[in-house]
Amino acid sequence: QIILAIESSCDETAAAIIRNGCEIVSNVVASQIESHKRFGGVVPEIASRHHVEQITVVIEEALAQANMNPSDLDAVAVTEGPGLVGALLIGINAAKAFAFANNLPIIGVHHIAGHIYANALVQSMEFPLLALVVSGGHTELVYMKEHGSFDVIGETRDDAAGEAYDKVARVLDLPYPGGPHIDKLAQEDCEAVSFPRVWLEEDSYDFSFSGLKSAVINYKHNMDQRGEKISPTAVAKGFQESVVEVLTAKTLRAAREYKVKQVIAAGGVAANKGLRTSLEKVFAEEDIPFFVPPLKLCTDNAAMIGAAATPMFEAGIRGDLTMNGRPGMELKSWV
Ligand code: ATP
Ligand code: MG
Ligand code: FE
Repeated sequence: QIILAIESSCDETAAAIIRNGCEIVSNVVASQIESHKRFGGVVPEIASRHHVEQITVVIEEALAQANMNPSDLDAVAVTEGPGLVGALLIGINAAKAFAFANNLPIIGVHHIAGHIYANALVQSMEFPLLALVVSGGHTELVYMKEHGSFDVIGETRDDAAGEAYDKVARVLDLPYPGGPHIDKLAQEDCEAVSFPRVWLEEDSYDFSFSGLKSAVINYKHNMDQRGEKISPTAVAKGFQESVVEVLTAKTLRAAREYKVKQVIAAGGVAANKGLRTSLEKVFAEEDIPFFVPPLKLCTDNAAMIGAAATPMFEAGIRGDLTMNGRPGMELKSWV
């Protein structure tokens, strides 16, 4: 099947065409990062306005790059939630109009299912599978026993990993989004500041990053009070070491307990070099295949939405023209 996919849940306006759930025919992303930078985060009103301006442009561009017409398509897929409601609605309304005008079925996709299925564009997913989802708004361990089956076995109790990265970056006066900047500093050779690891209860797969964030803030505050200058490199390195160690250890423990055949990482923070290296190392030792998508499929894009929509399409799942943006949509199994 050939699916046109649309994504507009946050600050990228994106459209893509996916063949058979695994082949990217075209993949267009219009990023708004430059417009949000000076505010240090995503401003919902500005996001909506950019989506309105860009949505038709990216859809037409995705078709043009694929050298396709609407008549070549089998369905339209769109991110239904979670995300910013005003942002979601622009993609959803564009998808509904396109589906109606071209007499195509419409499929509403969960954004996090999309992040997970970005992996299907790179290799085939083998079940049972464990996905570590680490993005701007989510940090979750998801167990999948088959396509369309999602069991969230652990999640963050406060900040998401990406959110912690962005907040710590702000303390260090690094530009938004801070994740890539901290990652870069953390690769440098220097002695790291030591920050706590938050493990929670012994058997818990949940995460907590707000304590770590506060530890960084307190460290800076204390140094300021003593009139000493902090080393952003040493702080970034210490912060990243703590995040990576906890994410890696919990993912490994879950992979063992659930005896999975494959481990995958997904979401913007999966672009992190320290995290990728650490997960690759432990799962090579453990002899469990580990995969992470290339950088541009880790952050928001529509190709991943098309990849997730394909098994839904095959399962006969269809939305209709009453589809609405669902800002707090939960990740539910469709099988
Ligand atoms: P969600 O998917 O939960 O709705 P989102 O779509 O905003 O949130 P993504 O686009 O998946 O999130 O990821 C963006 C996040 O990834 C930002 O917090 C950003 O700082 C972080 N990020 C991107 N690259 C890196 C990196 N190399 N290291 C750490 N974090 C990174
Ligand atoms: Mg984004
Ligand atoms: Fe995302």
